[in-house]
Amino acid sequence: MQKATSRLSGLPQKLQMFKRVAEMSDGRYLIYYSWRNHSQDEIISESLLEPPRLTAFKQKLRALNPEVDATLLEKAYETAETAHRGKLRDQGTPYFEHPLSVVNLLLDELNIHDIEFLSAALLHDVLEDSATTYEQLTELFGGRIARLVQGVTKTDEDTEQYIAKIEQSGEEAVLLKLADRLDNLRSLPLSPNRSKQTRYLSETSQFYLPLARRINAYIYEQMAQLIDQQLQGLTPALRWHPILEEWVIVSPHRQQRTYMPKPEECPLCPGVLEIPEDYEIVAFENRFPSLLRHAPEPVAPLWNSEFLVAAARGICEVVVYTPQHRGSLAEQKVQDIYNLIRVWKNRYEELGAREFIDYVFIFENKGEVIGVTLHHPHGQIYAFPYIPPKIEKELDSSRKYAEKNGRCLFCDILVAEQADGRRIITANDSFVAFIPFFARYPYEIHIYPRAHLRSIAEFSDTIQQDLAAILKIVLLKYDNLFDFSFPYMMIMHQEPTTGDVYDYYHFHIEFYPPHRTKDKIKFLAGCESGIGSFINDAAVEETARELREKPPRE
Ligand SMILES: [Zn+2]
Ligand SMILES: [Zn+2]
Ligand SMILES: [Zn+2]
Repeated sequence: MQKATSRLSGLPQKLQMFKRVAEMSDGRYLIYYSWRNHSQDEIISESLLEPPRLTAFKQKLRALNPEVDATLLEKAYETAETAHRGKLRDQGTPYFEHPLSVVNLLLDELNIHDIEFLSAALLHDVLEDSATTYEQLTELFGGRIARLVQGVTKTDEDTEQYIAKIEQSGEEAVLLKLADRLDNLRSLPLSPNRSKQTRYLSETSQFYLPLARRINAYIYEQMAQLIDQQLQGLTPALRWHPILEEWVIVSPHRQQRTYMPKPEECPLCPGVLEIPEDYEIVAFENRFPSLLRHAPEPVAPLWNSEFLVAAARGICEVVVYTPQHRGSLAEQKVQDIYNLIRVWKNRYEELGAREFIDYVFIFENKGEVIGVTLHHPHGQIYAFPYIPPKIEKELDSSRKYAEKNGRCLFCDILVAEQADGRRIITANDSFVAFIPFFARYPYEIHIYPRAHLRSIAEFSDTIQQDLAAILKIVLLKYDNLFDFSFPYMMIMHQEPTTGDVYDYYHFHIEFYPPHRTKDKIKFLAGCESGIGSFINDAAVEETARELREKPPRE
């Protein structure tokens, strides 16, 4: 067996990892990782001096009107935040999120930058839900704001009387109420209360939709569309496939994803959208997630109850490998890959520690043939509320193997591959990269740790350094194979995070490159997709030799 050198360009340095958590204006979190020498006080200042959303509001306001004086809005923010503090919405999120997102709606979607109106929007629920009085509001914010808030405050009248009262308060009050209603309608699928959902939908169609039609075309369209979607069950959900006995993630909202933006509009570049100017590696919640942190119980008024559904609960993160727009993981320095591995480890541990996460799936799709929509080097993490089917299958086979033989299936495969040697690509002190005897793709490299380790959480610092080194070599060999940046799916298989110990399972990385020759792509066609039987058109002893002989040249 060929023994490659362990490291390409010296040992990666173990620098202290700094981590800061920030919040984006729509509530998604963003974590940036850095290895530069930050001063101590920078590390501890995780909470920004000003509430981040207030900062975002002011930025948006200034964009709409550079002369704006936001003092009143700051005061309203303070008052509303205090009034709603400690209160939760029925989906379990802080109540204050709601007035905040009404303001966002007015700013972003209706381009309203009238400070008094926006302040009234922040305060719109304080009379209804806190001890604040009309007199206090008048004194603090003046008559117009107090009247607007009073105008949309529901007392014990029925809906018809309430609507009449809002209309009497004037068109401004109606607009405020409609924005409020639209925001509630948007978060309605998050409410665990199904009868409330149904009631809310019909009340909106009956009373608010006609009002919106008269007052504001945009709100009318949004409302009509949402009601329609929710009645059809077009909210994200898991649907059970009773024949294959596996979950299907239904994610109808993902159609609006960003597709191949121009380089200057890349949403992963520093400073564009909300990615901070200064980062080395950043992880943040996907804007179009398939699984939702606060997943709704599916609204199912029209669904056949014979079918099983569940909340599509989970977390989807994007991990941006580098601030540099061009390039790929293969072009990163070993040091940078090593830092990325530390981030993966951190994400695996943090996401896996969440009670509702059973599996943390770390992966990268690379290349347009795989359907990648953003070129900026990045990978993804899907944290699942269940163990995905392929992992179930691997757990099953390795458990049975261990029960029968008293050894780890993966450890034994590694021994057999090394004894044979023909399919080994490269190796170092901690890892072996090879195309397995049973590979399904012509250039399908697997990377196994030599030690029996179940997950990245068990990796020592040396193991992480060795993984960085072998990844670098494998990726360079791939790129040198046909002299172009080689597309692949990079898949990390490791122990589920259910809380149980799967001591028969063994961490590994699998690469599925779609190329079967320089210019031919292997499609998952009838045989593979239809009946799950793979046809590999290559003798992997031959493809492994090709890759083994390719130098890991930059
Ligand atoms: Zn970019
Ligand atoms: Zn093992
Ligand atoms: Zn596997």
